Amino acid sequence: MSTPAPSLSTVSADWAPDSWRSRPAMQLPTYPDPVALEDALAELRQLPPLVTSWEIFSLKKQLAEAQEGKRFLLQGGDCAESFSDCESGLISNRLKVLLQMSLVLVHGLRLPVVRVGRFAGQYAKPRSADTETRGDITLPSYRGDLVNQPAFTEAARVPDPRRMIKAHARSAMTMNFVRALIDGGFADLHHPEYWNLNWVGYSPLAREYQHMVTSIGDAVRFMETLSGVEVYNLNRIDFYTSHEALLLPYEEALTREVPRQHGWFNLSTHFPWIGMRTAALDGAHVEYLRGVRNPIGIKIGPSVQPDQLLRLMDVLNPDDEPGRLTFIHRMGAAQIADKLPPLLQAVQRDGRRVLWVCDPMHGNTESTANGFKTRRFDNIRGEVEQSFDLHAAAGTRLGGVHLELTGEDVTECTGGARELTEVDLERAYRSTVDPRLNYEQSLEIAMSIVRKQSQ
Ligand code: PEP
Ligand code: MN
Repeated sequence: MSTPAPSLSTVSADWAPDSWRSRPAMQLPTYPDPVALEDALAELRQLPPLVTSWEIFSLKKQLAEAQEGKRFLLQGGDCAESFSDCESGLISNRLKVLLQMSLVLVHGLRLPVVRVGRFAGQYAKPRSADTETRGDITLPSYRGDLVNQPAFTEAARVPDPRRMIKAHARSAMTMNFVRALIDGGFADLHHPEYWNLNWVGYSPLAREYQHMVTSIGDAVRFMETLSGVEVYNLNRIDFYTSHEALLLPYEEALTREVPRQHGWFNLSTHFPWIGMRTAALDGAHVEYLRGVRNPIGIKIGPSVQPDQLLRLMDVLNPDDEPGRLTFIHRMGAAQIADKLPPLLQAVQRDGRRVLWVCDPMHGNTESTANGFKTRRFDNIRGEVEQSFDLHAAAGTRLGGVHLELTGEDVTECTGGARELTEVDLERAYRSTVDPRLNYEQSLEIAMSIVRKQSQ
């Protein structure tokens, strides 16, 4: 991985890794035992980081190129990882589906793709309520495996600080496996057939995908025949990680000063983001993230006003540094046409840099009559397609997508090529939080992006 020269940035003298503690903090659990909490944090502060500052700078450079329209960002993974899903098959299938999607995008958009997994640390969840009631029992909400357990028992829901140590270890194992797969040639473009998941044999999308894989393989061999040299760098790709920076004590413990690079970095992930529920300008999460030098994302929901967006830019990217700030809008297919254009126009008029990304998942969640939390494929695709048009009309550019997906054959979102219905949700619904696109629906979204852009 190349090492781009770091640029200097000015973090104000009043910031420190723990300065967020003086701000109102939403969505944080209350740990029952402060001594056990401090012990766990002290241990975390000693553990090695999960990523390095030079990897972070190389991602920032790629995101800066995406801001200029020279790359497209693909960010995806589970809504929440769970400790029990830290398993080779699940990890490699998720990597495969992301690689397949990026192949579709590179081929169709004729642009390099920035690949960012929503994994190796996506263990904390914001919740719409602090408690959950079933029958006449009320318990604290499940806040992700980083905090407590999903089982509906009193013991399972107690926040346990030792889970932070376990999460750090699981993140490291996930990352180690992903790095080893990629270094070992898993992503070799000479052999895209390695990435096949078993759907290829029978899916309605299989022919289109196979055709593309064959033509890419042919193109690589043709280039090599013509030039007489092997296209070596096609077996090495960059893959980055991201998660919602929600549990601030954990994030703080993995925040390290890198003097050579002039500043503080969150070394638990390359690309932390701020969720919609914790995006308040004067809140603890914005305070924490303004001081780290990682590229950062922030989710933008339908209630955000243009002025608020500009103030977030002042606070989170005062130097207008390239690649620093990504706005991930998540409006919902029904609202995006109303809510997005004023935001795009305000940022466009302002002239500062930002990468615009569409999360077509979180504004399109609904509940079915048979009690499942789901999302309709047509709404997901519809929100992405509308985004492209709305950006084009505003003179801005949609530079990427942020998706919740899995490499497994789950039935959590309805619709798609196989036209899953509400009844199908009963077959393979595995998420304990939000519904994910299955492998086939994920590929279909990638193909629909290409189709939309080649219209
Ligand atoms: C999420 O990404 O899982 C999430 C909760 O999103 P948002 O903050 O946009 O609601
Ligand atoms: Mn989610």
